[in-house]
Amino acid sequence: MSDDTKTLCKYKKEKIEEHMETLKQIVGNPKFICRKCARAAKDEQYLCKPVALE
Ligand SMILES: [Zn+2]
Repeated sequence: MSDDTKTLCKYKKEKIEEHMETLKQIVGNPKFICRKCARAAKDEQYLCKPVALE
């Protein structure tokens, strides 16, 4: 991933549409949630304060 797509937490609103297919992969089967931003992702690397789901 490039710098502007480091974590979902840092995702810019205008980039969401552009990276929709990638985002579907990342959030489609979430295993972690960010305790700061309430975003979810399959890998903790996509979140700034990841906490495992379950
Ligand atoms: Zn976050």
